[in-house]
Amino acid sequence: MPESTYTVGFLYTFQMCTSFVLAFFLYEYFKDVDKGFVKYWGLAFTGLAVKYLALACQNFTPHIADTAWLKVIIAFITQIGAYTFALFFILGFLAALKKSPIIFKHQRWLLGLVLTFSLATSFVFAFDVNAAFNRFYIRVSLLDFILSGVFLAVAILLMNSQKRFLAAKVMVVICLLFSARYLICSFLTVVMLRENNFAQIELIFRYFDFACYTLLGVNLMIWMQGAERSAAEVAINRAKYMGKHDLLTGALNREQVIENIPLAISTATDKNLKLAIYLIDLKRFKFINDTYGLKIGDLVLGKVAKRLKQSVLLPQVIGRISGDSFVFAIEIGDEGQLEKAAQHLHDVISRAYRVNNQEIHLQASVGYCLAPSDGDEAENLLHKANLALFRAENKNIPSLRYSAGMQADGSHLPAAEKAIRLGIQRKQFVLYFQPQLNLVSNRIEGVEALVRWQHPEKGLLQPDSFLPDFEALGLNSVLDGYVLELACQKLANWYQSFKRRLTIAVNVSAAEFQDPALVSKIQGLLVKYQVPSKYLELEITENVVITDIESAMDTIVTLQNMGIKVSIDDFGTGYSSLSYLRDLPIDKIKIDRSFITDFARNDSDLTIVKSMIKLSHGLGKRVLAEGVENQDQLALLRKLGCDAVQGFYINRPLTEEKLVSQLSRRE
Ligand code: C2E
Ligand code: CA
Ligand code: CA
Repeated sequence: MPESTYTVGFLYTFQMCTSFVLAFFLYEYFKDVDKGFVKYWGLAFTGLAVKYLALACQNFTPHIADTAWLKVIIAFITQIGAYTFALFFILGFLAALKKSPIIFKHQRWLLGLVLTFSLATSFVFAFDVNAAFNRFYIRVSLLDFILSGVFLAVAILLMNSQKRFLAAKVMVVICLLFSARYLICSFLTVVMLRENNFAQIELIFRYFDFACYTLLGVNLMIWMQGAERSAAEVAINRAKYMGKHDLLTGALNREQVIENIPLAISTATDKNLKLAIYLIDLKRFKFINDTYGLKIGDLVLGKVAKRLKQSVLLPQVIGRISGDSFVFAIEIGDEGQLEKAAQHLHDVISRAYRVNNQEIHLQASVGYCLAPSDGDEAENLLHKANLALFRAENKNIPSLRYSAGMQADGSHLPAAEKAIRLGIQRKQFVLYFQPQLNLVSNRIEGVEALVRWQHPEKGLLQPDSFLPDFEALGLNSVLDGYVLELACQKLANWYQSFKRRLTIAVNVSAAEFQDPALVSKIQGLLVKYQVPSKYLELEITENVVITDIESAMDTIVTLQNMGIKVSIDDFGTGYSSLSYLRDLPIDKIKIDRSFITDFARNDSDLTIVKSMIKLSHGLGKRVLAEGVENQDQLALLRKLGCDAVQGFYINRPLTEEKLVSQLSRRE
């Protein structure tokens, strides 16, 4: 009956077209969002389209049944289409739910399996006229059985996942329907049907398939919209939150703590109470990071913050002021409660943490003081609590209250000052240079100068070991002046020796940037060393700009008029937003490396980086990403249109000699 075969042929053709269209949309979408699961689903629907293509051909050319080898080829295409669909359909869900990286590593192997399986199922018994049943079981019953399993597996995966949006729920229903459909089919083909009369039952399923596969495809598209939206929502909320809170733990950041403490003191005083300020330092936290990895370290910090927040002492202020130290402030009526509260903090923190099936134990040191008796200024109080903490750690006791005698603990500073001044005099501070790679021209566009202390006894010291002393001694400007001069000197030297100019970016501290003499100092240096101003760039952090936006604006405008570039360092870690920077004539924005570390694998970091790049470009600023440590990060940044990168993957900070040889090698 050719008419009905043609009708079926049309149905298959239609289904093939729908599948191709869906696959096409999925690919287009993939190009936009670059999400692995979208690609897998695209491939799945391509597989499905191929299967229907084969089936349509078969129905439009009924005489095909007369040629054995044509039949086998059609069977093969149908089989490979169907199994490809099954494989990529489930891979898509595994990727969307971020499961099993092992399976993804063996993708090729899985594809090989699909190919072998399709070959086997279409060729075995293919030319044996008497083996019609076997052939049929292997091509139809087995396939249906496997498809039923795949759909069931996806449904179970989804039910176990945390995805609660509508498309996910609808998907569970569709998958269960399909699973049942294929199981019934598989069962029927085995127990009661023969190749010929199975065709009639199949008609019903054809309409079912047509409706359900289309629904499935449409639902996948809705799913992706939902996933994109929720990633964007997470990013937006995170960006808002970032303003006020420490990203990792949700506790207040340092600036907010400083703002909140005076308020808490006055509220307490109004109630005739005092405010006790505890500074908690987690002991050997670096060890947790080193042993379990930074991810787990972060999770533990989050848990610590949560426990502190939920403390029965009803804290007024909770903040994280550096990597592993927290502030915890409570109102108290009598001083006898001070030590008890400290003990409570130890109890709270030392309860075991369960993270990713591992049990982790922590201990803390606590230093504390009391407001207003010990002072009423936030900085001062934190400083005192810190002195007490420092003492407690040195004496190896769990907690200690601040007392007047502790002030002397800054006692290493006079000696440090002497050493620092001598070091400056004897030029023990040297510059290392980290190249910045322009992603458009693929050339080194400049270097960042990073200071090191070639200490006569202690060897080469990194900035984090001496910058705090400079800060405490108010010597930041001395260092910055020294580095600026050295940088100009290097620029002049390089030009003399190699006739080559390169931009040097110099880090400038808040104190130096706010110094009215900065501009004339720089002017003097440029003249002294005959350096064109465009080869000097200053890096300041966003907080420097925010603290006094008016005067920062003036300075930046003046510098810009002189031809000196200014860029914003560590962008994203402070509490400004890009809109603050809109009116500043800043040359570029340096995305802090904390965003880059994980963004190739983390949706919300990726969304943030993407929007930082987009917004910066919208404001006409260039974007440099810091901390690029591997090929994946580089490739992704390139794709996102980032202008430049810096990081260990390109180069570590280099000595002058290494830099020069590096550059000549690149030429
Ligand atoms: P920064 O300005 O954010 O400098 C970048 C820091 O990140 C450098 O550390 C650099 O070695 C490191 N880094 C670069 N690429 C990567 C990477 O791919 N992965 C990782 N994990 N780290 C990377 P360094 O040299 O220890 O400097 C630390 C900080 O000290 C600087 O942070 C800057 O704030 C300050 N600093 C350094 N030199 C000076 C200076 O001359 N003057 C002033 N005022 N501050 C300086
Ligand atoms: Ca910098
Ligand atoms: Ca930086």
